[in-house]
Amino acid sequence: MTATLPATARVISQWLDQFETALKEGDIEQAAQLFGDESYWRDLIAFSWNIVTVEGRDGVRDLLASTLDRVRPHGFEVAEDLGEPAEAGGVAESWIRFETAIGRCVGHLRLRDGKGWTLLTTMYELIGHEEQQGDRRPRGAEHGANPNRQTWLERRTHEAEELGHTTQPYTVIIGGGQGGIALGARLRQLGVPTIIVDRNPRPGDAWRNRYKSLCLHDPVWYDHLPYIDFPKNWPVFAPKDKIGDWLEMYARVMELNYWGSTECRSAKYDETKGEWIVVVERDGAEITLRPQQLVLATGMSGKANIPTFEGMDVFTGDQHHSSQHPGPDAYRGKRAVVIGANNSAHDICAALWEGGADVTMVQRSSTHIVKSDSLMTIALGGLYSEEAVAAGMTTQKADLTFASLPYRIMHEFQIPVYDEIRKKDADFYARLGAAGFLLDYGDDDSGLFMKYLRRGSGYYIDVGASELVAGGDIKLESGVDVVRLTETGVVLTNGKELPADLVVYATGYGSMNGWAADLISQEVADKVGKVWGLGSNTTKDPGPWEGEQRNMWKPTQQQALWFHGGNLHQSRHYSLYLALQLKARMEGIPTPVYGLQESHHLR
Ligand SMILES: Cc1cc2nc3c(=O)[nH]c(=O)nc-3n(C[C@H](O)[C@H](O)[C@H](O)COP(=O)(O)OP(=O)(O)OC[C@H]3O[C@@H](n4cnc5c(N)ncnc54)[C@H](O)[C@@H]3O)c2cc1C
Repeated sequence: MTATLPATARVISQWLDQFETALKEGDIEQAAQLFGDESYWRDLIAFSWNIVTVEGRDGVRDLLASTLDRVRPHGFEVAEDLGEPAEAGGVAESWIRFETAIGRCVGHLRLRDGKGWTLLTTMYELIGHEEQQGDRRPRGAEHGANPNRQTWLERRTHEAEELGHTTQPYTVIIGGGQGGIALGARLRQLGVPTIIVDRNPRPGDAWRNRYKSLCLHDPVWYDHLPYIDFPKNWPVFAPKDKIGDWLEMYARVMELNYWGSTECRSAKYDETKGEWIVVVERDGAEITLRPQQLVLATGMSGKANIPTFEGMDVFTGDQHHSSQHPGPDAYRGKRAVVIGANNSAHDICAALWEGGADVTMVQRSSTHIVKSDSLMTIALGGLYSEEAVAAGMTTQKADLTFASLPYRIMHEFQIPVYDEIRKKDADFYARLGAAGFLLDYGDDDSGLFMKYLRRGSGYYIDVGASELVAGGDIKLESGVDVVRLTETGVVLTNGKELPADLVVYATGYGSMNGWAADLISQEVADKVGKVWGLGSNTTKDPGPWEGEQRNMWKPTQQQALWFHGGNLHQSRHYSLYLALQLKARMEGIPTPVYGLQESHHLR
């Protein structure tokens, strides 16, 4: 059959046929030989019940030796509905589809010289536990006559009254920001009883509470939530309160059991019963929940890093972390010092300047700056843009394309992108440099995404503040640190004292296992270790190489404890795999984890 296909499709199909034969025969060596010397297999729960990338033939052997008997993969084929196989620069690539004993899967394959170079395998659906979509959608109305009829509203009200009181949820998600909400929506569709708790009153408040000028830095095509896309008239960069309203609407129509004004006080795993004891305070009353799974979706930009400087106790002006910054209104005509030079620092400086404050930014070390326009067109445009949509790109394909590039080599694809941006915006960077701003492009010049994935910090997507820095409207002290605060100002290591009525600490956020320390115990936080980062051995991302984001969306060293979050794209995409991991456990489907990550760093 493959002989009638065009050349690239034939090569791909032949490889898939050989791969399937080897797997069916349990011939791990033959399967491994289909991969090149340099090769990467990224698996999102299809084989490993983990999020893991193995490298080289040894990696393939190891993964298959642990999983093949159980997974029983079959039916490998080109997924033509996702796109035709293509060939460029000696690399043939194709979307693929297959099944395992328990799941339906899609993936992506790249062949170099006929050998596997990158393979992505992802499970999107558990057989027999499909979401009620399309022709499986619920009927809603029950035609006929039934004296005991309950309306949808009655059923929904009943469920909300029972869950957490007379019945227990299978999963509790702490944190009802976009992360908790997206995961909650997927779990609802999979029939996993779930309660989301958030200390804020309304869904969306995490965005509403941020400084008033904030708009999303990522464009709309990147930001959709699962199931409901933003409408076609949604702004490219949504203002924070609009996102807040969208999340509130979403939580309601997706029928989430969302407990607002509910603070999680503590959580403890009861090993003997295999359940968590989660103590929450809801509207002043203490309630104990006993879920079997606990997800911390408390935000990677939630645990404020507040520095301790001598003199903070004597400073007589206002001082707060960027997460507490209310906006510029109270500071017209005042002197503001913003400590930090990343996203929040820039946004806050610009808003304070617009609000008539005298603003100084204090930059300790270099920052990566990329102009929003350049990022949109050169870095993101191919996958997430109006042009991409017009060319047939879908959110699913874009997410999977992004996922198909193994982290080990992703920087190699990013470096040329940022080289191009540097050339295009050379004047801009020169002006910033001339103003004394310390610039970098990442340790290996791989730019914004790699910094985000490795350390989640160290950059600003320029939407205007950089011109104010270059032009001196926002004053700059760079290459300096704070020595101490006085009653009236900030003393720097260069000997200057900056008079200040306001000091903003735009000093970033801590690792999410800090939440586990606060809510569970230091012991569990240490057992789990640092959350986020790839182990790239670059600044703030210490090795050893992990190959995936540490502890995110996958099993951790603490049984039944999960971390969820990230930007809107990650939250959308990876919530699927986390939801399926939870669903499988609820259904008693065996989920032996291949390659459970070890903990190397405490935070
Ligand atoms: C200034 C700024 C700009 C950003 N811009 C973008 C952007 O453009 N695009 C993007 O995708 N991301 C952006 N981010 C990142 C952003 O933080 C995340 O995308 C998003 O907020 C993460 O959502 P989340 O649900 O993981 O966490 P959060 O939104 O932080 O939500 C965590 C929730 O947990 C709750 N919580 C914490 N502890 C408890 C407890 N003990 N009990 C009950 N509830 C608790 C909090 O109240 C909060 O609502 C930005 C972040 C900042 C700070």
